Amino acid sequence: MADNMVHRQQDQEYQRQMEAEQAQVRHRMSQIKHKILVLSGKGGVGKSTVAVNLAISLSLAGKRTGLLDIDIHGPSIPKILNLEGRKAQSAFDAILPIEVGANLKVMSIAFFLASQDDAVIWRGPMKYQMIKQFLKDVEWGELDYLIIDSPPGTGDEPLSIIQLLENADGAVVVTTPQEVALSDVRRSITFCRSLNLPVLGVLENMSGFVCPKCGEVTDIFKSGGGENMALAMSVPFLGRIPIDPQIVEACDSGQPYVDKYRQSQAALAFREAVTLLVGSNSEDNETNAGKEINTMRIAIPLAEGQLCQHFGHCEEFAIMDVNSQENCVSGTYREAPPAHAPGVLPQWLAEHNVTIVIAGGMGSRAQSLFAENGIKVVVGASAGSPEEVANAYLNGTLQTGGNICDH
Ligand code: ADP
Repeated sequence: MADNMVHRQQDQEYQRQMEAEQAQVRHRMSQIKHKILVLSGKGGVGKSTVAVNLAISLSLAGKRTGLLDIDIHGPSIPKILNLEGRKAQSAFDAILPIEVGANLKVMSIAFFLASQDDAVIWRGPMKYQMIKQFLKDVEWGELDYLIIDSPPGTGDEPLSIIQLLENADGAVVVTTPQEVALSDVRRSITFCRSLNLPVLGVLENMSGFVCPKCGEVTDIFKSGGGENMALAMSVPFLGRIPIDPQIVEACDSGQPYVDKYRQSQAALAFREAVTLLVGSNSEDNETNAGKEINTMRIAIPLAEGQLCQHFGHCEEFAIMDVNSQENCVSGTYREAPPAHAPGVLPQWLAEHNVTIVIAGGMGSRAQSLFAENGIKVVVGASAGSPEEVANAYLNGTLQTGGNICDH
C-alpha cells in the first residue's frame, strides 16, 4: 500500500517535471517564427547538404536563421560549415549556438560528442532527452527560421522532434530521382501525415549532372521522378538540384556552396526552393527570398590579413558579402588568387561573382579589364582589416588617397 503511494507520488513528480520541461521548450520556441524539418527516406541523398544550403540561402536573404543538426549517428553539418572540432559553450544555463556570418547560428549534436563512437550506444529515450535539451536550452534568441537536419528515415529523432516542437511549420523531404529512393520518400510523407506535420515540399536532389566544363545538365539517372511522386501524393514540388562536383568540393572544404558559387544552376535551384518555401509562409508573404538575396560582393587584396597596396602580388583576397538591408558585411571568406599574369585576376574575381574591388593601387590596364568584367574598382584605400575597409566604404567614410601603384 505504502509502496503504491510512493510510486504514485513519483509518477506525479515525473509528470510535473515533464510538463515543466515542455513549457520551457514552448517558451524558447515561441521566439522562432518558422521551424522547418529537413527529412529524407534514406541516407546519402544530400539531406544535410540541402539543410545547410537552405539555411545559408535564407541567411543571405536577410532572414535570421538557425540550423540545428540532430543527426546523432552522422552529424555532418560541422564538416560542411568548417566547424569540426568545435565544442558547445554555455552561459547562464543556456547552450550558445555558434554564429556563422551575420544571420546564421548553428548547433549540432557533434559539438557535444567527444568522439563519433559516443553516439552508437544512444537509445530512444536518451535521444528524446537530448533533443528536448536542445530545444529548451539552446539560446537562439529571436529567429525568423530554424532549419532542422534530422536523421534519415522515420525513427526516434524525427518522431521526438515533431512531438516536442508541437507546431513546426512542416517538413521539406529530400529525395534523389531513382525509384528506390522515391519509395522511401512516400514512407516519409506518410509518416509526416500520421503526425499531422505538413509536407512543405519535395526537393529532388542529384537530378541531372552539371558538366564542369560547359555547364550543360545531363540526366544521368531518370529525372523528374520526384515531381511526379509529389504530384501523385498532392504535396508541393520545390525543384531539382543537379549533381554538381563543386558541391562535394565546397562541402569538403567547409565553404557553403550557395554562397561560393552563387550563379551556378544548383545555387539558383536552392534559391528558387527558398522562394517557394518563404512564399508559402503567410507571415512572410511580403518577402521574396529569391529576389531579396543581395548581389553586392566586395573583394580586397590582402597581405598578412590587411589591405595590401600591391594588388597584383597580394597573398590572398578577402571576398565579402554585403547585407543590403543593414548595409554592412554579412560574411567573408578568403581565397588565394591564381599565379600572377596579365588579365587573370579580373576574370578570376568575376568567376567569384565579385562586383566591387577595393584596392590601394592598380594599373590602368587592370582597371579597364575589371570594367569589361562589370566590376567596379575603388583605388587609393589605405591599410586596414578587410571588414573595416569594406564597412567604411559602405558607410561612405572610406578615405581614399592617390592610386599608389599605377604601373
Ligand atoms: P545525407 O545527409 O542525405 O546523408 P549528405 O548531404 O551528407 O547526404 O550528402 C552526401 C554526399 O553527397 C556528400 O558528399 C555531398 O557533398 C554530396 N552531395 C549532395 N548533394 C549533391 C549534389 N547535388 N551534387 C553533388 N554532390 C552532392
